[in-house]
Amino acid sequence: MAYRHPDELPTGDPALLPPDAVIAVDGPAGSGKSSTARALAERFELLYIDTGAMYRALTHAALSSGINPGDEAALVALLAPASLELLPSRGETTVLWCGNDVSRAIRTPQVEAAVSQVSTHAEVRRLMVQRQQTMGRRGGVVMEGRDIGSVVFPLATAKIHLSASPEARADRRWRQFRDRGVEVDRDGLVRELADRDRQDSERAVSPLQISPDAFVIDCSDLDFAQQIELCARACLVNPALDAALDLDIKRARRELPPRYRLVYGIFDTVTRFFGMTEYGSGGHPIPRGCIVSVNHISLWDPALVAGTFRRGPIHTLAKAELFHPAWLGGRLFRWMDAIPIRRKGYDRNAFREAAARLAEGEHLMIFPEGTRQAIGEPGQVRSGLGILVQETRAPVVPIFLRGAYGKRIGGSVESPLEVWRGPLLRWHGLDDLLGTVDRRVASDRIGLLCRSAWCELQARSFQMNPVTEFEKALGDKQLRQFSARQAKLFGT
Ligand code: C5P
Repeated sequence: MAYRHPDELPTGDPALLPPDAVIAVDGPAGSGKSSTARALAERFELLYIDTGAMYRALTHAALSSGINPGDEAALVALLAPASLELLPSRGETTVLWCGNDVSRAIRTPQVEAAVSQVSTHAEVRRLMVQRQQTMGRRGGVVMEGRDIGSVVFPLATAKIHLSASPEARADRRWRQFRDRGVEVDRDGLVRELADRDRQDSERAVSPLQISPDAFVIDCSDLDFAQQIELCARACLVNPALDAALDLDIKRARRELPPRYRLVYGIFDTVTRFFGMTEYGSGGHPIPRGCIVSVNHISLWDPALVAGTFRRGPIHTLAKAELFHPAWLGGRLFRWMDAIPIRRKGYDRNAFREAAARLAEGEHLMIFPEGTRQAIGEPGQVRSGLGILVQETRAPVVPIFLRGAYGKRIGGSVESPLEVWRGPLLRWHGLDDLLGTVDRRVASDRIGLLCRSAWCELQARSFQMNPVTEFEKALGDKQLRQFSARQAKLFGT
């Protein structure tokens, strides 16, 4: 459960933090995110980005032009062409809206009262998230907000979710206003914070929530130095765990049972022959017993992943129909100890078997969308992944595949063939999340996080190799076919 004192985490080695690290700091209003994020940026020499200031700047501009905070179309029209810059400076960030310094104007009670409504609109958020990702994609940043760990940077090096009691938060805000010479009523502030929390955590689009892989830090009883020490330690946990992992890939391969070595070797050679390129594998070490969560686009997917994985046996959880001995693939699935799963309802035996393999330190490859998807956008993740994570606590390796579309392979001319491996998702905040929502919702959150991770990997892929005409055309065609098939399978 939530960390409350620095001694609960080991002191880490700051040298382990990669220069392109992204540190996400989320939490409710008044929890001390800004001061914490700024201090962390200073300590680790990273750039500090305050995303709340962006929503505030838009709110201020809207109020100044008489735009209603509920009018999404008008807000979007205001934001889309506007330049919005955050300049790092000592103390608070300097915020420039269309070149004008609005740093002070965005901190008034009027803006405070309207900003949460402005930030509920889906299109406003999409535009803001895009700008935030552009600012931070090269890394080396500490970014604070409400949805940084869950949506903006799902693959952040470290995620911190700050919390504090409502009284402690109201006190902090009251002192901030007093220091700026603004008189506010303390009781009114408690009510206003509670109201903003409710709006921020109940909105439909990327609500404020505990990301299941975040460190939840309760700083109600900490002084500032302790709070920063605890958060700094939390930032170094994942890098220290990664550094302690065994990177001896050659030995891992030698230790594979011969039939696995043979089949994985063939997969690797064939997919490389067709131009497959791997990204992220070298930099993202993997411990034993991981769930490898892959977006599903073709029948070649298990071969692409198994060939590139090189970290001990990796077993596929695949639909039971594929195990039919009448076709070669069915025999291969059996020979490679894949686990059959019935896709309708909850297949208890399959989950039990999967959990047992993970406990033995073997890896499990799953395609949590449940069926192949049209290219262009990963599909919704079904509850299986979240259930398995809750039962086993196994870390998840997100893998995004691109290029082996349909039943063909090697569209290296028409589309790149790529395997993108993201960093491990470790479930530091899952117990805290389960303290606030039921298991079903927690499964959804785990699924959403995994999907956001694929989307981020996809964005990196598209940035490196833009979508081809072939992919666009195929995507449209598949979208029609796959949605018809999905509707038949799942009644959706
Ligand atoms: O952090 P700050 O209090 O300045 O944020 C102001 C408001 O902006 C929040 O109450 C929230 O409604 C919105 N916000 C958001 N997503 C973020 C950052 C801020 O919705 N990433």
